[in-house]
Amino acid sequence: MRKPNYFASGTIDRAGHRRRDAAWLAGQWRDPQTRVLPIGQAGVVVAGTELAVLVLGDLPGGDELSPDQEGVVFLGTDVEAGAIFGVDLSVPELAQLMDGLPVGAREMDLRGAAMLLPPDEGNRVAYASAMLTWHRRHRWCGACGARTVPEWGGHLRTCPNCRAEHFPRTDPVIIALITAGDCCLLGRQPIWPPAMWSALAGFVEPGESLEDAVRREIAEEAGITVVDVRYHSSQPWPFPLSLMLGFHGDAGSEPPEVTVDPAELEDARWWPRGELEDAIASGRVMLPPPFSIARQLVDSWLSGAAGPS
Ligand SMILES: [Zn+2]
Repeated sequence: MRKPNYFASGTIDRAGHRRRDAAWLAGQWRDPQTRVLPIGQAGVVVAGTELAVLVLGDLPGGDELSPDQEGVVFLGTDVEAGAIFGVDLSVPELAQLMDGLPVGAREMDLRGAAMLLPPDEGNRVAYASAMLTWHRRHRWCGACGARTVPEWGGHLRTCPNCRAEHFPRTDPVIIALITAGDCCLLGRQPIWPPAMWSALAGFVEPGESLEDAVRREIAEEAGITVVDVRYHSSQPWPFPLSLMLGFHGDAGSEPPEVTVDPAELEDARWWPRGELEDAIASGRVMLPPPFSIARQLVDSWLSGAAGPS
């Protein structure tokens, strides 16, 4: 059995049944076992090579904060350390928490952190970052425009004016490595570093199945008809709020001609397996980082584990 993708499957228990229990949350907030994961606009906070975690009881002014205020999310519980909350350091009332961080603590973007932190911490920061980003973007009701307020430990925002309920969202994105014979289809976007090539990806649109989205994206971006779509795995992708859904797909026994959509891609082409391996070895092709599902899709095909072709 393959191991989970990075950002997925940590040890945290989300303890959803506790989210509506305000008294329990308030008690946990004051508990010395409770840990707080600070998230800033630029990303997570690290001290040296480790994720920075705060203990509220150690902080001057920590008692004045509460778990139901703007910028605080109950993430769940941990068998060793009790409750875990995420806090948004960009909320003015919470910025003081920076004072409790170790000297030298600094914000690091999530991609940099993903290269540094072990998988369990990667899962926590992906979860906390996506939740707090959702709060930042949903402070106003999409139905009537009034200011919304957080509830349920930050897992719901309600509108006091029209009573609308707004739940955290995640945006589905398909990513697909298409093969034909012993070739795979990789593309590159103009903003990527030179030599970076990857599987093709795009947002799922309303009214589409995931398989529909794979076929549409590959047809739009590369002019290729996909005849078979196979699910591989998924990955939370907190840039900022996506869920990546990974597939392998077949386009026949011979690679059909590629027609690149220049609005989406700088280039796309078929790579024979041997040529791709040589290009990777020589540095002429750089694949996405190992923590990405894109890399996992390519690696599983190169290793022969991608299924029928
Ligand atoms: Zn409203």
